[in-house]
Amino acid sequence: MLKRIIFATGNEDKLREIRMILSDLGVPLVSMREAGISAEIEENGKSFEENAAIKAKTVMELTGEAVMADDSGLQIDHLDGAPGIYSARFMGEDTSYDVKNTALLEKLEGVPDEERTARFVCAIACALPDGRFLSSRGVMEGRIGYEIKGENGFGYDPIFFLPEYGCTSAEIPPEKKNELSHRGKALRSMEEKLKAILSEK
Ligand code: IMP
Repeated sequence: MLKRIIFATGNEDKLREIRMILSDLGVPLVSMREAGISAEIEENGKSFEENAAIKAKTVMELTGEAVMADDSGLQIDHLDGAPGIYSARFMGEDTSYDVKNTALLEKLEGVPDEERTARFVCAIACALPDGRFLSSRGVMEGRIGYEIKGENGFGYDPIFFLPEYGCTSAEIPPEKKNELSHRGKALRSMEEKLKAILSEK
């Protein structure tokens, strides 16, 4: 039986979304900070899946506890999938998202609607102390908008336009974003896999 799961992220915004989505898992999620761990993990994988697995396995080996990790990012088709796995590091980790979002809008200046397709991707990995490893993936399709809009969400949400809602993912309420989002989909799929394990005798 798992007493708790450490979520290997230092990003409190993401953890807030994750806690909402996994609220009925029945096992508390603690952040690295709450678990008293500070590990600098080099995300040197070549895919979202590899990076999530590196984070989950490294922290599981360090603590001997169950660890979940995610890796996510924005793929813009016109930029050959950039910033992709480098989404957090794009233009520097400490650069504000106002600056990053403005730069991406400039790169897409003059690009017509149908070529502004983009998606958020999220890979979730879970490493259990008994050696079992689970993974899941979720995608949210959309387009890069023409201006920065909306106060909800974080990161690239203010430029991520959802055509079927006519607004950005920073303009929809958090519960709605969790329903649609790459992270919501990947976490709900992971939740199913974990619940199957938790129900084992
Ligand atoms: P990670 O922490 O390495 O997974 O980096 C993910 C980065 O991708 C974040 O820092 C954001 O820049 C971007 N990103 C991932 N998911 C979202 C989202 O739901 N909204 C906006 N930006 C996101």
